[in-house]
Amino acid sequence: MTSSSSTAPKTYIVEHLDEELGPWSELEYISIAKESQENGAKFFLSSLPPAFKVPETLKAIPAFTAESRGIEEMYASDKSRVCLLDPQGKSDLSPEDGEKFDVFLFGGILGDHPPRDRTSELRKKGFEGRRLGPMQMTTDTAVRVTRMVVQGKVPLDKIEYVNEPELVFNEHESTQMPFRYVKGGDGNPIMPEVCNGVCTHELVDPVTDILL
Ligand code: SAH
Repeated sequence: MTSSSSTAPKTYIVEHLDEELGPWSELEYISIAKESQENGAKFFLSSLPPAFKVPETLKAIPAFTAESRGIEEMYASDKSRVCLLDPQGKSDLSPEDGEKFDVFLFGGILGDHPPRDRTSELRKKGFEGRRLGPMQMTTDTAVRVTRMVVQGKVPLDKIEYVNEPELVFNEHESTQMPFRYVKGGDGNPIMPEVCNGVCTHELVDPVTDILL
């Protein structure tokens, strides 16, 4: 363990695997960018197709970089620095992994239920994997939890979670989110700003990414 590796800024990379950027993914990415900015980290959205339109809100956050290269090209000679957050990882992420790795890689895919294991596309590339416990998280939650563990040094099982919360859109519509979230100071699950129990503008079903 060296002090330089533990203090080196962390990089969070989400490899974009969906064809388009749906409204819900966009909100997740904006949350990741803002929190990376606040925590001295960098956030890359990699493997973006040439026609991809990067939203202005993201471009405006200095911690954020849009990257057309894929993760393999970016870290071709340096794979050992990269940890893939993998729901099928053989061991769970620990604070010590913050000394071992400085790049954390996530699948840029909406959570789906039941999970289709699309993280396998990244696993095939041979990066070392770590799990964030047994439950599926949204990509922004997975980045948040990783940061709390590797930068905040909080062990995974000491983080307070909210499992499968019910999201109420209005008095007629609600949906149960089949994911695990971090519990915020107010006791509510932390999720992108548009929803936190109540939606403030356009209604997006966070599971299907379809506008309601
Ligand atoms: N259903 C998806 C998972 C999507 S979640 C699948 O088919 O694989 C989006 C990303 O968040 C995953 O690619 C992974 O990098 C991360 N993630 C979510 N839950 C996780 C967990 N419990 N352990 C490790 N990584 C997780």
